[in-house]
Amino acid sequence: MDKTPALVCEDIHKSFGNIEVLKGVSLTAHEGDVISMLGSSGSGKSTFLRCINLLETPNSGKVIVGGELINMKATKSGEPVPVDNKQIERIRSKLSMVFQGFNLWSHMTTLENIIEAPIHVLGLSKAEAIERANEMMEKVGIYERKDYYPAHMSGGQQQRVAIARALAMNPSVMLFDEPTSALDPELVGEVLKVIRDLAEEGRTMIVVTHEMGFAREVSNQTLFLHKGHILEQGNPQEIFANPQSERFKQFIAGNL
Ligand code: ADP
Ligand code: MG
Repeated sequence: MDKTPALVCEDIHKSFGNIEVLKGVSLTAHEGDVISMLGSSGSGKSTFLRCINLLETPNSGKVIVGGELINMKATKSGEPVPVDNKQIERIRSKLSMVFQGFNLWSHMTTLENIIEAPIHVLGLSKAEAIERANEMMEKVGIYERKDYYPAHMSGGQQQRVAIARALAMNPSVMLFDEPTSALDPELVGEVLKVIRDLAEEGRTMIVVTHEMGFAREVSNQTLFLHKGHILEQGNPQEIFANPQSERFKQFIAGNL
């Protein structure tokens, strides 16, 4: 029998006011899958990631995390809302997000940033959280900066702290929203290398990115989102070599 997928999204629709941003997006991530999501600005990529971890509530569709269907209920206005706060907490702790702008707490050091959620969300003791943080800081090569504040680190270092913070929650799926887009070009490589290492470790990840090379070499499934629809979906080697849609051809050409 097949193993339960780490994440299933089925026919996700999301509107803001009367503008439909996601028009039925589906994906399945099995354990160890690295899914790259491409698409031009405004195509709905961030909205989709935000629907997965319930920073936004989809108007319709299903999100199933590790076999657990997220309960939603329509309100009077017709907008559904997640109904079970305990479930939301549980689901969020399984999905860690890494943002384009790092989103570290500026008044906390690297170590404090990383131990915060394991202590307050997972209920680890401070000693346990520090032990876990040490391991994650080693993994992303930031241990030497453990007592630094974000403002005193480069963008690449800050993003590696954000990745260590996400890892410290021991998530079943990691969501990356353009993790290298805010970085100076010379810092992109150090962050991509960390993500690559995680892929090799077998981490399940969805990575929104403009890095075509990364999508081709590291992911095992690529999605191309355009105006809220998935136009292309499949093995990156195949879809890059043989794009079906005119839009994806243009997208590749513009970005190569
Ligand atoms: P991408 O990440 O692919 O650039 P987004 O998901 O951020 O795209 O945005 C898709 C569309 O949804 C854009 O037109 C954006 O303006 C709109 N949008 C995103 N979030 C909101 C919001 N909270 N309220 C209204 N419109 C939004
Ligand atoms: Mg975005």
